[in-house]
Amino acid sequence: MIVVLRIGHRPQRDMRVTTHVGLAARALGASGMYIASDDKGVAESIRDVVTRFGGDFFVEDKVKWNSCIKQWKREGGCVVHLTMFGQNLPDVESEIKSREKIMVIVGAEKVPGEIYELADYNVAVTNQPHSEIAGLAVFLDHIAPNALHREFPNARVRVYPNPCGKTVEEL
Ligand code: SAM
Repeated sequence: MIVVLRIGHRPQRDMRVTTHVGLAARALGASGMYIASDDKGVAESIRDVVTRFGGDFFVEDKVKWNSCIKQWKREGGCVVHLTMFGQNLPDVESEIKSREKIMVIVGAEKVPGEIYELADYNVAVTNQPHSEIAGLAVFLDHIAPNALHREFPNARVRVYPNPCGKTVEEL
């Protein structure tokens, strides 16, 4: 089980990026996302995609990041913080893959120093600056089983591969 914890979200300003963090998480194999902020629109947009495109991805907002992380660790979960300053993903990938419950933390602006201490792994997807969406997508591609071949049950809309054009089924 992999969940994402989004911290540092600034209401309105980060709405689009946080929504895309959630959509990438869902599409690439995470089970759900915790958002340490109160921005109703984000949770609603992601839930709307879940309703239409299927699966059982959860979104919980207004969480307190500190207690969310500590609770996860109490339950035996592993905590991975994505940061350009961390160890490179290929060097820790197999250790992380062996864990059953993984929480992936992604930031927005500067991340509180405490996060680096709370994390079991501070992981870089290259040591170059880029974005939380890119970092999360590459991480899940490496860590989530079958990230690119997932089933999304109970969908109202299904999109089928098409070399040129769009094949969409409304169920
Ligand atoms: N300047 C901020 C800092 O010092 O924390 C970085 C903000 S960056 C725009 C937002 C988030 O993207 C980071 O908190 C981190 O989770 C993710 N990120 C950016 N580059 C990354 C990288 N090379 N590897 C892993 N995650 C990265």
